[in-house]
Amino acid sequence: MNATRAESDPSVWRRCASVFLLSVLWAIPSLAQDSAPRDPAEPLQGKPQPKLLPRPAGAIPRQAVDENSMRALIHELVGCGTRHSLSSWTDPARGIGCGRDHVVARFRQIAAESGGKLQIVVDKFEATSERTGGKPAPMENVYAILPGADAKLAKTLFIVSGHMDSISSRWTDPEPDAPGADDDASGTAVSVECARLLSKLVAGQEGMFRATILFAAVSGEEQGLLGSKHMLEWIQQQGYTVGGMLDDDIVGADFAAGGPHRVRLFSGNGEIDDADSPSRELARAIEEIDGRSAVRMVFRVDRYGRGGDHYYFYKAGFPAVRFTEPLENYAHEHQTPRTEDGVEYGDLEKYLSFPFMGDVARDNAEALRQLAMAPALPSKAILKGAVTPDAKISWSAEEDPERAGFEILWRETTDPHWEVYDFVIAGTETILKGVSTDNHFFAVRAVGKNGARSIALPAEPEKPSRF
Ligand SMILES: [Zn+2]
Repeated sequence: MNATRAESDPSVWRRCASVFLLSVLWAIPSLAQDSAPRDPAEPLQGKPQPKLLPRPAGAIPRQAVDENSMRALIHELVGCGTRHSLSSWTDPARGIGCGRDHVVARFRQIAAESGGKLQIVVDKFEATSERTGGKPAPMENVYAILPGADAKLAKTLFIVSGHMDSISSRWTDPEPDAPGADDDASGTAVSVECARLLSKLVAGQEGMFRATILFAAVSGEEQGLLGSKHMLEWIQQQGYTVGGMLDDDIVGADFAAGGPHRVRLFSGNGEIDDADSPSRELARAIEEIDGRSAVRMVFRVDRYGRGGDHYYFYKAGFPAVRFTEPLENYAHEHQTPRTEDGVEYGDLEKYLSFPFMGDVARDNAEALRQLAMAPALPSKAILKGAVTPDAKISWSAEEDPERAGFEILWRETTDPHWEVYDFVIAGTETILKGVSTDNHFFAVRAVGKNGARSIALPAEPEKPSRF
């Protein structure tokens, strides 16, 4: 390609640079750590050059996303006038009950088209917060569940979630119009479209997903994340654990010139000082699956001073991340539709970008596909070898005939991305000859015979610091 053009178009430059960088990293992984020639080489003889399994075939193509059905669902949701969580749950024409009906109807249609594999649950509960006036308010979440085929992994859930409720400028008032096209009919449409894409795959190939996938449309987000908080309780009551939670909230618009841009993917740091929380590992896994040209990782739990439905999952120590559009327009969020001083306010359908939203749906679906095909991640990874020339990494993992082995990952402590150091087929321990424990972070992940990778498990020191 023409260099001048590349320089004048940052998005083209970025895409090309990422593709180039990725291909270099995959082709010659040992060079990846050699970017600073004044540092001593580790290890001196060069790192192992393992043959890595290719990722699972059959990636979901972008054309598979049905933008028209996403558009139709959003149009129906906006047509409910408001979906404020304190509005009517029983009026079929106006209020959040109308929104729930459309989501349930769409999930039922998808279930019928995929041979009845999708189980639909309407989960009714009560919740209280300042924004419910301090009184218990009736709430409902809708879940569509695609059961996993592996006896053990079926108890692990990978979740994609949007919130079906909306809010106007008058936060506690359920009366004004609150179209909520972007916030968050868009995330709801992404969750539903993922259900369509993935249940269709299962209809063609029984047993391809080892873990269970849950597609959620929750309520009460605008009253203080009430629906997602309840969903986490429901999940645990049902005996599930969380393998990963993908929150899609405000994923429908991309108004800056030059789009479609990358979707932002927020992940919290966790309680530790090396940027290796389970949520961060989920973000890295998604970025690796979908590519750096698709996903812009942001290393903070959410937008500055704001929150979303992944929050309680993150705080509980589960891997949980948030997808959000590249730049927000605050005249379109939490606004009663109106024009003031020539400025149009309101979260309206006309501002949505389906080319962008379709990308987000594809990237969510592909991440869920690969994660639900993967073996369990190891349960404990220990880094030993302090004050010796070699790093030693050991981990625990249950027997799994579908697992091909484990990838040992490392990265510069300042680098946001993992690289593969080695592939260990047998055993649960490896020695990294001539690699100091001190100059890199290390992690382990499981690799299936199908090429699907678990998220990474960082290796932590065996004992507290010694002085
Ligand atoms: Zn929202």
